[in-house]
Amino acid sequence: MSAPFKTSHDVVVVGCGIHGAGVAQAVAARGLSVLVLEKSAIAAGTSSRSSKLIHGGLRYLENLQFKLVRECLAERDRLLRLAPGLVHLQPFFFPIYRHSRRRPWRLRLGLTLYAVLGGLRKTSRFRRVPRRLWSTLDQLETRDLVAVYRYWDAQTDDAALTRAVMHSASRLGAQLQLEAELIHASLEDDGCVVHYRHAGKTMDVHCRVLINAAGPWANHVLGRITPQQTPCTIDLVQGTHIVLPGRLQHGSYYLESPIDGRLVFVTPWLDHALVGTTESDYAGHPDAVHPLDDEQEYLLRTAAQYFPQYRTSGKESILESFAGLRVLPSGSKTAFNRSRDTVLYADRPLQPRLVTIYGGKLTAYRATAARVISKIESSLPPSRQIIDTRNIPLAPES
Ligand SMILES: Cc1cc2nc3c(=O)[nH]c(=O)nc-3n(C[C@H](O)[C@H](O)[C@H](O)COP(=O)(O)OP(=O)(O)OC[C@H]3O[C@@H](n4cnc5c(N)ncnc54)[C@H](O)[C@@H]3O)c2cc1C
Repeated sequence: MSAPFKTSHDVVVVGCGIHGAGVAQAVAARGLSVLVLEKSAIAAGTSSRSSKLIHGGLRYLENLQFKLVRECLAERDRLLRLAPGLVHLQPFFFPIYRHSRRRPWRLRLGLTLYAVLGGLRKTSRFRRVPRRLWSTLDQLETRDLVAVYRYWDAQTDDAALTRAVMHSASRLGAQLQLEAELIHASLEDDGCVVHYRHAGKTMDVHCRVLINAAGPWANHVLGRITPQQTPCTIDLVQGTHIVLPGRLQHGSYYLESPIDGRLVFVTPWLDHALVGTTESDYAGHPDAVHPLDDEQEYLLRTAAQYFPQYRTSGKESILESFAGLRVLPSGSKTAFNRSRDTVLYADRPLQPRLVTIYGGKLTAYRATAARVISKIESSLPPSRQIIDTRNIPLAPES
């Protein structure tokens, strides 16, 4: 059944993860009208299943992704300023053992570069933790320990951050429709007609530009658009986290997995410890992603290697587990070594009617949204900016 009316917006966004919310905020801040369609709930997808870090990504330096790290560090510091109730600075400890693949000089080099890319601000400082303090670090294994470095990054509640960004967009006039699934969209000369299902009805809405912010569902959404669009070739890579009992008192730990040398975080999460993440190729439908047994075992073994209190823990000690999907460019390199850059893909170079967001970081959502706006600028009507997104404070729900 088709609705008898047709409404119009400057922009329609598909998906209310961090990118959909960020784009809605940026469009509304420009004084333009925007509608967000979300098939489920705010942050129902990847944006509630991340490692919950607002960080530059120390490990991306190993892949020479300097631009990404610099941008993320700048956004991290901005979020610390704009969202003090949601984003907290935290000490990160990086222990190096006799058997570690990464040697102290290499870590020192990485941390120096991290500090330089972070503008040598206070939040970029790092130091070697004196041996006499090792025993205070949450029962960290000290046998064969050679050095421990401490640096700073930040943590958030990813879903709460996404809700806060969407809330700020709504305050600027953005509209949000939950349980509204894009069914089909057709590109026309003057924009796009979007059909979506909500409460058992099919509704249609016109927009100048459609933003596909459906995360791992992006190519499923593209498949619903006419004329047919050629999707970017991407791989979906699953990342699982487990929650273990026991509160970490001193901060987060960045650990080398004894199994394959990948880096794994153990961070405080509520009153427990969050351990993640894995990288497993994923070929199923994004709706069906779930933690695998061998991923949970891998994380448990990594935690147990460094924290003796988990050595006797079996799978039954896992309080919770969840899995999300990274969107990475297709390639032959391992997922660990592939670019984490965001790709914006438009239906045409001039006056795009459709832009798809592939990949990206929770941390850099605001910068990504700003790039989306630049990309679609030529398709938007003249408007008066209400506020710069670099200055919009974000508060947790009361
Ligand atoms: C395991 C893992 C750990 C990560 N850790 C970090 C981290 O610590 N720090 C960091 O900065 N980044 C991290 N990231 C990256 C970050 O989490 C993601 O880049 C970000 O959350 C992606 O957000 P998104 O809005 O693009 O997608 P999503 O959050 O997946 O949102 C897409 C939304 O689209 C909706 N949707 C899909 N199809 C339709 C449709 N047809 N109609 C309407 N709605 C639809 C879905 O319901 C969903 O809500 C991590 C990623 C993963 C996978």
